[in-house]
Amino acid sequence: MSYDVVIVGAGPIGLFLACELRLQGVRTIVLERRTEIDPTLKAGAVGGRGADILTRRGIVELLGDLPSMADLMGGRKPAAQSLQAKTAKAGPPTVGHFAGLWILRGGSTPAGMPIIAGQQALEVALEKYAIELGADVRRGHALTGIDQDDTGVSLTVEGPEAYELRAGWLVGCDGGRSAVRKLTGFAFPGVDGVITGHQALVEVDAPDFFPFGWHRTEHGLLARGPMPQRVLAAEFDGPPVDRSAPVTREELQASLRRLSGTEVTVTAVHSATRFTDNTRQAETYRVGRVLLAGDAAHVHPPFGGQGLTLGLGDAANLGWKLAAEVAGRAPDGLLDTYTTERHPAAARVLHNTRAQVALLAPGPRVDALRDVFTALASTEEANRLLTDLMGDLDLRYEVDCDHPLAGRYCPDLSLTVSGTATTVADLSRSGGPLLLDLDDRSSLRDTVRPWADRLEVVTARAEEVPAPVVLVRPDGYVAWAGEDADGLRRACARWFGSPR
Ligand SMILES: Cc1cc2nc3c(=O)[nH]c(=O)nc-3n(C[C@H](O)[C@H](O)[C@H](O)COP(=O)(O)OP(=O)(O)OC[C@H]3O[C@@H](n4cnc5c(N)ncnc54)[C@H](O)[C@@H]3O)c2cc1C
Repeated sequence: MSYDVVIVGAGPIGLFLACELRLQGVRTIVLERRTEIDPTLKAGAVGGRGADILTRRGIVELLGDLPSMADLMGGRKPAAQSLQAKTAKAGPPTVGHFAGLWILRGGSTPAGMPIIAGQQALEVALEKYAIELGADVRRGHALTGIDQDDTGVSLTVEGPEAYELRAGWLVGCDGGRSAVRKLTGFAFPGVDGVITGHQALVEVDAPDFFPFGWHRTEHGLLARGPMPQRVLAAEFDGPPVDRSAPVTREELQASLRRLSGTEVTVTAVHSATRFTDNTRQAETYRVGRVLLAGDAAHVHPPFGGQGLTLGLGDAANLGWKLAAEVAGRAPDGLLDTYTTERHPAAARVLHNTRAQVALLAPGPRVDALRDVFTALASTEEANRLLTDLMGDLDLRYEVDCDHPLAGRYCPDLSLTVSGTATTVADLSRSGGPLLLDLDDRSSLRDTVRPWADRLEVVTARAEEVPAPVVLVRPDGYVAWAGEDADGLRRACARWFGSPR
């Protein structure tokens, strides 16, 4: 079998992209060097727009029964909730934190409640779904060489035996140290790190050696919870000397001792990872027939848990554009809008994580800054701005239409279609573009008839009608909203190509 697209990396972003491509009928293969899903504790939640993206494709349901905070805490008071009680006495529940300040309450859209799902649970669900949809997921197969020309990409793969693979396109979803990025020669400029951080699941000789929740100490940051064994530690004494060396029990213990000021002993390590706060981003996300998505395209420290939202946003943006390219129906320049739309989204995450590191540093001056920051962030406008920023909720793409909804993520409108209640999320399962006619505009339905092979037209009644007709891209963003036929025709041609 020949393939249209090879994805390198079966992390959450590579697997989600495989689902997106398969929903569009693209012949897709995923190469993953690991034989099993990485058991190391990484993301514990998906917030903001990332949660919406998973919901709209029905992936949340595939996650099965997720543990509650109380389950995770093993009967203890959940850390986030106890902090919330301390830092925020009234109002809606927090949806996240900024630099360990659990002050984010709600953005400008009602979406944004985080899904508390471990990264492995997400990867299991996505891998199963990608395979069900027809992706060829090959574990134990590492990419080692790339050679691209005008018609495709030739890859060298080390599997059970070495082999060559040819495909039209290659997407590197192979994480922060991406081989695809390095072998292709993508520029990856950025700012070096100043901290050494660890996230681990450990057993200790004194379970109460340090309080649960997030705490800054004389040497840096130490957070415990939500699971009793989980520690997140960061010391502000420079980046790790060797980032690829395995994390040892002694190294973790020394860090916990310095940060807690106790003589705690680590008796067992179940999972450990080391991180720093370098922030780097590929200058472009496409070089010829090679593209990058997720951590391969941008790295930043994990504070605020934004990596999955950012990467899922990349994959949702890229999937339908690459599918149109593969099918030969992409309008000129469509694929390049992947970089123009997604590069700024990551740049601002990198920027806000640098601000969070500054706010997490030890010392009395930062204590004072945090107090001022908390007071400012308690105002409604500042809180909305921060929550939007952390959840990617306020992103607006340039779509050449001046309706207030245009370029924004389509709200999850409650609709009635042929007497049956539904929502935009329900209609988005299959991953195609939608024309929502909310005002029975039959002439506009006629306008889009030439795109009938690629656009689903839905005539619906809505409780709230933001515009008579709304054109929604497969990634959920509004391509156009309004009532003039010329504008609608132009938008269809710009995003979905010339009619056949
Ligand atoms: C301590 C920590 C806590 C975090 N917490 C959160 C959180 O709460 N919320 C959140 O949203 N994000 C969080 N993140 C970030 C999140 O884990 C990442 O953003 C996410 O893993 C990125 O997914 P990815 O698919 O892009 O890359 P990865 O998950 O790194 O996957 C890349 C895959 O590519 C494979 N690969 C690499 N090279 C090759 C090759 N040559 N050939 C074949 N396969 C290859 C790897 O084995 C791997 O499976 C956290 C990160 C850390 C480190």
